[in-house]
Amino acid sequence: MRTLFPAMLSAALVAACAGSPPRAPDVPKPGSEPRLVVLVVIDQWPEWAFEAKRPALTGGFDRLLREGEWHIGEYPYASTITAVGHSLLGSGEPPSRSGILANDWWHRELDKRLHAIEAEDHTPTNKWLRVPGLGDAIAAAHTGGKAVSVSLKDRAAILPLGHAGTAIWYDAKRVGWTSLAPVPWLAAWNTANPISAHLHDIWTPLAETPGLAGIPDDAPGEIGEKGFGPTFPHALDATRNPADAVFATPLGNELVIETATEAIDREQLGADAVPDLLVMSLSAHDYVGHGWGQESWESWDTVLRLDRRLAKLFADLDAKVGAGRWSMVVTSDHGASPMPESLHGGRIGVDQIQDAANRAAVAELGPGDWIASAGYPTLYLSKAALAQKPKQLATALTKIVYALRSFPGLERVERSADFWGHCETRTGDAQVLCATLDPERSGEVLYVPAPGWILLDPDDPAATSHGSMQPYDRQVPVILLPPGRAPHAAPTAPDTTIPMTRIATILARWLGVSPPSSLPRADR
Ligand SMILES: [Zn+2]
Repeated sequence: MRTLFPAMLSAALVAACAGSPPRAPDVPKPGSEPRLVVLVVIDQWPEWAFEAKRPALTGGFDRLLREGEWHIGEYPYASTITAVGHSLLGSGEPPSRSGILANDWWHRELDKRLHAIEAEDHTPTNKWLRVPGLGDAIAAAHTGGKAVSVSLKDRAAILPLGHAGTAIWYDAKRVGWTSLAPVPWLAAWNTANPISAHLHDIWTPLAETPGLAGIPDDAPGEIGEKGFGPTFPHALDATRNPADAVFATPLGNELVIETATEAIDREQLGADAVPDLLVMSLSAHDYVGHGWGQESWESWDTVLRLDRRLAKLFADLDAKVGAGRWSMVVTSDHGASPMPESLHGGRIGVDQIQDAANRAAVAELGPGDWIASAGYPTLYLSKAALAQKPKQLATALTKIVYALRSFPGLERVERSADFWGHCETRTGDAQVLCATLDPERSGEVLYVPAPGWILLDPDDPAATSHGSMQPYDRQVPVILLPPGRAPHAAPTAPDTTIPMTRIATILARWLGVSPPSSLPRADR
């Protein structure tokens, strides 16, 4: 247990002081106002996995801890998924208010699934986000401050900013960078630094990686990702689609950081006294985690290389913006489960859940397709089911709930209507489930995996995943480099727990603008 759940042990250690407020000042002292505020999101970076790797990290992460504060961040909902986490990081709001339920969800009125940043015509959009993000907060302040985000993933670039600012992401089809609104320098950047030049790269591990990981390269459960096999070396051009395989390599981090650094120059970020925002969301570690697990050689190697790369980034920020003139939050959008093999858990296909639910509905309603979608975290009844008489429908719903409660690997199965609305009046798990649900957009049945169990898209198998109420999914590191900081001895364990809903407010205060949650809702 000690090696698997250091986060829970340290969480217990800090529980006594969990009520004390984080030390980071909300408002910078005069003279210490940052010119640039940076949010670094390491995608799928659980607190427990960081604690396991921390002693080996002597580069950028060590500097972060010697200058900053280390807290355990806790997400307030069960849908610990990329789009949801990035929405909350930028807005401070959970799905019950942001309307971003998952990476994609079923739209009843459209009779189809759409990605969180996908319009009906399949173009990228921020329209499903009901609340303002940090880009909106900066725009509303009318200070002339800029907001730029860079990520491999579209959803990770778009959602933290909200409805304003410059969102840039990697388009594997075009093998280059693209953006939501036109960015004047992006075409020249793509031409001058073609990603296609990297597509014959071969990823081999650093010399120290195998010893630090301490497990075989082909540990049980590892399956690889994006066409890579379970073991090193990983040659991009040995995959079906090398441009897509970039997502699952340390090269992916390198490209995001390079492009974000270019944005500092091109957009003149941090060049004057009005603070600007730069978001960097590093997607590669998420794909690495899904394919090989957090304990794998691949995960260790990705984090060791990131440790070195962050040290260079911080030196570049010192040179470009000025030492002490930039502030930073380093955190994650969600955690991940240890390998199910090590927790005596397992993997469940979402199609298995849909089939089991439909069989239960058939028992009441007769033959038919009664389930429109079962994508986590809620299951949607089909139009045909919703057209049934209310009494029959209620009975079918009860039968579905009871059938899924006997399904192996699910911790909670509930009628969504019992948990949505008035989240502030609920406590404990009921509040967490409530924060997960949007009464207008969520499906009729809510389900949550049990400890050690992960959900899979049948077309996309994985070593590990995220998306549950467990601490390994909800707890992530939060490292704050506040304005006016001074170097100190690096903490050996995290300090207090901090609700992830506070991050957007902390960033807004450092930026000198009102928190996004204080602005009018975007959907009214
Ligand atoms: Zn993610």
